[in-house]
Amino acid sequence: MPITIYNSLTRNKDPFEPLHQPDVNMYTCGVTVYDDCHIGHARSLYIFEVIRRYLAYRGFKVHFVRNITDIDDKIINRANELKVNWQDLVRKYIDSYYRDLALLGIAKADYEPRATDNIKEMVIYIGELVNKGYAYVTKSGVYFNVRRFPNYGKLSGQSVDQMESGARIEPQEEKKDPLDFALWKASKEGEPSWDSPWGKGRPGWHIECSVMSQKFLKTDTLDIHAGGRDLIFPHHENEIAQAEALTGKPFAKYWIHHGLLTINGQKMSKSLGNFVTIKDSINKYHEDALKLFFVSAHYSSPLDHSEKKMVEETKRFKSFMYLFKYYEEHTKKEPIGLINDADKQEIDGYKARFIEAMDNDFNFPQALAVLEQLSSLAYSLTGNFGLEQNLNKFKLAVETIESLLKTVFVIDLRKADPVKDSRLFLGDGGLRDTIKFAMEEWTWAKDKAKERAQLKKEKKFSEADKIRQELEEKGYEILDKKDGSFELRHK
Ligand SMILES: [Zn+2]
Repeated sequence: MPITIYNSLTRNKDPFEPLHQPDVNMYTCGVTVYDDCHIGHARSLYIFEVIRRYLAYRGFKVHFVRNITDIDDKIINRANELKVNWQDLVRKYIDSYYRDLALLGIAKADYEPRATDNIKEMVIYIGELVNKGYAYVTKSGVYFNVRRFPNYGKLSGQSVDQMESGARIEPQEEKKDPLDFALWKASKEGEPSWDSPWGKGRPGWHIECSVMSQKFLKTDTLDIHAGGRDLIFPHHENEIAQAEALTGKPFAKYWIHHGLLTINGQKMSKSLGNFVTIKDSINKYHEDALKLFFVSAHYSSPLDHSEKKMVEETKRFKSFMYLFKYYEEHTKKEPIGLINDADKQEIDGYKARFIEAMDNDFNFPQALAVLEQLSSLAYSLTGNFGLEQNLNKFKLAVETIESLLKTVFVIDLRKADPVKDSRLFLGDGGLRDTIKFAMEEWTWAKDKAKERAQLKKEKKFSEADKIRQELEEKGYEILDKKDGSFELRHK
C-alpha cells in the first residue's frame, strides 16, 4: 500500500506518487521575521519536519525548501513603530527563529532562502508575467490580473464572483479588480526599495514563494507544497496563479495544509494577550512534551493549547522516559541473547501498525497510540522487576519505541534528565510513585551494595553483613563472585 495524503487541491486522499521517485521536492511557507515565533509557528514547523522525516524514513529522498520572508509591510510597520532600522529588526528575529528551531531540535531545510536575496529573480518573473499579459503596471505597482487566469479559485474551491464579494481596493492601490494582487509595490519615501523596470519598490509577499520554491527546487512543478490552512486563500491561490500563468504547468502536485492552534479556545493574538512564544513555552514545558502535544492531534485538525493538556503531555512523555531509563539501567550490563521468533514477530507487528498509521495521511495520534500500546507491553514485561525471562523481548520493545520516537517524532528519550530538569516535575502522581520510586530504589540498592563491597575490602564484615540484611529486607540479593566482584539482583 502506498502512502496516502489528503490533497487540498483534489479534496481527496490521494496515493503519494512524486514525479521523479524517489526524489520529493517539498516547499513550505516560512516565517515573516518581525517578532518572536509563537507555538502556532512551532506546530507548523514541527508538523512539516515530521512529514519530511517520515518520507525519508520510508525511503524517499526529500529536497526541502522553507523560505524566510524578510521584507513585508509587517516588517516595515514594526520597524517604524519601534523606531529601528528594518534590517536590524530582521537580523534580530532571524537569530531568534534559528534559536527556536534549535530548541525544538528541528533541522534546517536544504535551503532557507531569504526574499531579499532573490529580488533579481522576482523582477524577471514579474516581467514575464507582464509580457504574457497576466499582469499590468500602474504607478502604485504591478498587479496580477486575476480575471486573466481561468483557474483562479481552484485550491480554495471558490468562484471568482464569490471571492469578489469579500475583496476591496485600498485607496492607494490602482487595481482593475478588487481581487487583483500586487506582484511589485512601489516604495514610498524612506521605505526599503530595489530597482526594477517599474521604478523603485519591493516584491509582494505571494511572488516570493512562487519564485523561491521553483528556483531552489529547480522545477516548475513541486511534489509537495505545504503551509497552514489560513494560507489557502489568498496566499496559496495567488502562488498557483503566478506560477501556472508563467509556466503553463501545474505548480504543485500535493497541497498539504495543517490545522491552526488556539489557546484556551481562543485564537492567539497580541491584543488578547494570549500570545505564547516558543521560548516561553519551552521554559515551562519540556520540548518533547510540547511535541507530544502536537502529535496528539491529526496535523490537519485544529488543536487547543491549555495548561491541563500540557500536564497530560508531560506525564505521557515521562511514561516513555522512565521506561527508557529502566531499560538503560537493566540492560546495560546484562548479556542479551537471541530473541525468539514469536517475540520478534510480536514487536514487529507494532512497528508495522505504526507505519500503517503514518502511511495513512500521516495519522500522528494513531501512530502514537501504537507506541503507547507497545510501551504498556514493555512495562508489563518488567513484572516485579525481574526481567530474566523477558529481557530480549523487553529490550527490542523499548528500542523500537525509542527509535521511532526519535527518527519520526524528533523526541529524544536519551537526553531527558528527570532528576535535574524541573520541567519534568510537572504532573507527578501515580507514575512517580511507581516507576520513579523503583528507579530511585534501584539506585539506592546499587550504592548500598558498593558500600558493602568496600567494607568487605576493609574487613569490616559485621557492618557489611548489616547492609546485606538491609538489602534483603527490601527484596534484593547479592551474589558474591570468586574474583571479588558481586552481582545485585531483585529476588
Ligand atoms: Zn508561501
